[in-house]
Amino acid sequence: MRNNFSDIPPLDKTVPGVQAIEQLLQPRLHVLYRRRAERLRVLDSADGGSDEVSSSYLGFAARLVEEQARFVEETPLSAEQAMPISALLGDGLSAAEKPSVSLLESSVYWQDAFKAFVRILSPQMPQQIAASLHDLTQSDKATLAAKASALLNGTYEDVEAGASVFLWAGLSVFWSQAVALAQPHGAGEEAPVSHGASCPCCGAPASGGLVLTGDREGLRYLQCSLCETRWHKVRAACTMCGGTEHVDYWSFDTTDAPIQVETCGDCHGYIKLFRQDRDPDLEVVADDLASLGLDAALEEQGFIRAALNPFSFPSR
Ligand SMILES: [Zn+2]
Ligand SMILES: [Zn+2]
Repeated sequence: MRNNFSDIPPLDKTVPGVQAIEQLLQPRLHVLYRRRAERLRVLDSADGGSDEVSSSYLGFAARLVEEQARFVEETPLSAEQAMPISALLGDGLSAAEKPSVSLLESSVYWQDAFKAFVRILSPQMPQQIAASLHDLTQSDKATLAAKASALLNGTYEDVEAGASVFLWAGLSVFWSQAVALAQPHGAGEEAPVSHGASCPCCGAPASGGLVLTGDREGLRYLQCSLCETRWHKVRAACTMCGGTEHVDYWSFDTTDAPIQVETCGDCHGYIKLFRQDRDPDLEVVADDLASLGLDAALEEQGFIRAALNPFSFPSR
């Protein structure tokens, strides 16, 4: 276990006795982005990408993550800029609220991030997609806010798939810093309010589940696709409906494969679990993207994906 390369801060060993399970884990964002970009590049070079996700797309995702890291480093969010989001976050008593279109319109931080990502990365994209992304950066704030609102409310089909990835990348650098600045309640023992596989801080869907290693061996957390918070979920209960009767775990290739899939016969949802206890190099977003072939097999069995990958939106 390369603890110094984990984006999760180590446990405070100076506290005596058995420590309570932390309900929320906030990542060290710069380490998270670095790990994600490096993992995408490793997966990119490993097998040339799966049939569903071409190798060049994993490389593109790595470049976008590197730009997210650079944006956060060069233009960190101020407490004042974070304030409108702080008011919406779940507080341990109530669930997170979705932002209004007018809030999204007036918060320019994420729009600046979106435009920067398009400006830097679109020259490497197919001409037609690059042109439509460029047009979108020239549109008014109301248009951008309406598209962002559609994504945050889960109506992904209302936004072109190419634009979704860039808009979400901009929204994500905004939310992840805002949540970290707010130091949400629930970071202690109190279980945060969470509906299904939705983040208790911001309400966005999980990207997947993570079984930790090291100091927190075996504990399961879900990871937010928007604000990157991890929240604790007990194992052996469905992450989506909480049912315990018909939860099954599937492995592919070998029984101790590092990627496991949890399916539920009650709600017919499924979510991938990334077993860092079996392979500490796994990264939820990167390894999910590189294993989308598993999803096709599960969907053929009638299961519905509960997770959202910020690089693969359900398209229209
Ligand atoms: Zn979140
Ligand atoms: Zn279920």
